[in-house]
Amino acid sequence: MRIKGQKKQTEQKLTHGAMWFECQECGKRWRMWLEKGVEDKRFRRIYPEKHKLVPLSIDCQCGGSAEHVDWDKDLVLKSYKPILPHMNHFGYSDNEDYAMTVIKRL
Ligand SMILES: [Zn+2]
Repeated sequence: MRIKGQKKQTEQKLTHGAMWFECQECGKRWRMWLEKGVEDKRFRRIYPEKHKLVPLSIDCQCGGSAEHVDWDKDLVLKSYKPILPHMNHFGYSDNEDYAMTVIKRL
């Protein structure tokens, strides 16, 4: 049963996994969560034309650029989980070919 005033399910961002990123300048490394529809194999099977990729590199707070590392350590969740406010992630964007980088804290 839906509780009145509860946020609609569609407003809740969901994640299906994460990737490690490492800055090529300062060596900092952190996890980037992937929103549903971003690098999402299950989603791509159903909506191939809506599927988004992550950028090859993203900005680090030091001004350097960070890249996806440790591909074998990618996190894969069995089911979609909510993206919490503090989680760095790649957000799904309808109008872009690539996902949006959302950095909350490093
Ligand atoms: Zn850096």
